[in-house]
This record gives sequence, C-alpha cells and structure tokens, in this order.
Amino acid sequence: MATGQGVAPSRAASMAAMPSTSRRCTPQTPCLALVIDDIGRDQAMLQRLMQVPLPLTFAILPHGRDTDQAVAALRAVGREYLLHAPLEPTSPRQISDEPLVISRRSEIGAVFRDMARRVPGAVAFNNHMGSAFCRSKEAVSSLVESARGKFRFALDSKTTTDSHLCRIARGSGLPCLERDVFLDDPNDATTVDYRLQRAVRRAKERGWAIAIGHPQAATLDALTRFSRGNDLIVVPLSVLAQTKGALTGKSAGT
Ligand SMILES: [Zn+2]
Repeated sequence: MATGQGVAPSRAASMAAMPSTSRRCTPQTPCLALVIDDIGRDQAMLQRLMQVPLPLTFAILPHGRDTDQAVAALRAVGREYLLHAPLEPTSPRQISDEPLVISRRSEIGAVFRDMARRVPGAVAFNNHMGSAFCRSKEAVSSLVESARGKFRFALDSKTTTDSHLCRIARGSGLPCLERDVFLDDPNDATTVDYRLQRAVRRAKERGWAIAIGHPQAATLDALTRFSRGNDLIVVPLSVLAQTKGALTGKSAGT
C-alpha cells in the first residue's frame, strides 16, 4: 500500500466517517471517483463489490430484477448511489437490454419521475446509454427540468461526445459532472488495469477524475487490486460535486 505522498488510500472502515464537504481535490491531493453502473441486475455481484475496500459509488437501474434489494442493501450501510436512468441510444439494438427507456418523444418528465421513485435516496442521476437522447437539446431540457429539486447533481456518462446534458444542467442551476474514463470495455484484466491508471494520471494532472465501470468479474478483481495499492484518494462522487473545478470541467482547485 503506497502512502508515501501522505494521502492514504480509502478504506471501507473510514467510509462512514468521511466528511463529504471538506476534501480538497488538487493535483497535489488528487481525488478519483469510481462509479459502478448497471446495478440492480445481479445482487450477488453487488454484494461482492460492496466488499471492495473503496468508497465506490453505485448507479442503480430503475427496473432491474434486483433494484429494490440493491437500494435496501446500500441504504442499510449508508453507501452512496445514483439513479442510472436508461435513455434512448442511437442503436435500437441496445434498447432490448432494458424494459423501459426514456425516448426523445416520450412523456419524459413522467417517466423520469417514476424512475426516480424506484431508486429512493439517490443523490444524483447518470445516463444508461443515451447517445441519441443526449444529443437532443429539447429532450435534455425536459429531463433536467424534471431532475431539478430531486437530485443534488447529475453525472453525464458521456456516451456521445455531442451530449448537451451538462451544459443544459449547469445553465439551469443543476450541478453536473462528466465521466473521464470507461474502465471495462472490453472487460479483461489488462484493459481495466490500464484504464484505472489512465484515470489516476488524469486525476494527478487536473486534481480529480471520474471513472465508470460495470459489475463484471474483471472489474471487481481490478478494483480489489487497486484498493491494495494506490497513492491518491478515492472519494464518493458527491465529493466532486463540492469541487468547483469539477463542476465547470475547466480548472483544478477546490
Ligand atoms: Zn449502464
């Protein structure tokens, strides 16, 4: 375990006590948020991920087989989670992996509010898929309007480089963060280890980074290895929502 730089890796035992508002995320004391998407389909895998001694942030699908169990398990131990809202992708083939997807032409507000009710206690939301939805200013505006007052902030998973989510959210007063690195596509040990190091480099350059992974075996194993040796602080995502630079996406600092 590398602690030579004076920043100890986060440990499970310290999670509950970690103050979410006092962390300074700078290139000297970089922060890394690790979000695990697609929770709610496999409770056994969630239980294994919860044993990783890092303050992972979980993103829960609203209509998963195990959604209710996931919410209950995370709430019971005070762990942070997001609503992982399925949004319309560019490829129709992707839609089949979720029973309900918010399309650009649906009753966006009503569907989104129902999804939010299915994941009570979520601090924020991020998008599952959404490469078509997030390119529509009108659709994103409706979504943001429905999210304001319900969530403290949004996370753009950045499934398209043309996403309007954070620009519109910030313009409406809803803080918004953006994903930097996807960890596990393809899902093999070499890829996940390499992408974790890319996220670490990004955090050290700028002061913070956000990586998204998925509940798969190679990711679980890589995160377990990572928890045993890293020299930056892993934080719940909400810590970055207190970080001015992370919210604007432009500068390092607090
Ligand atoms: Zn997803």
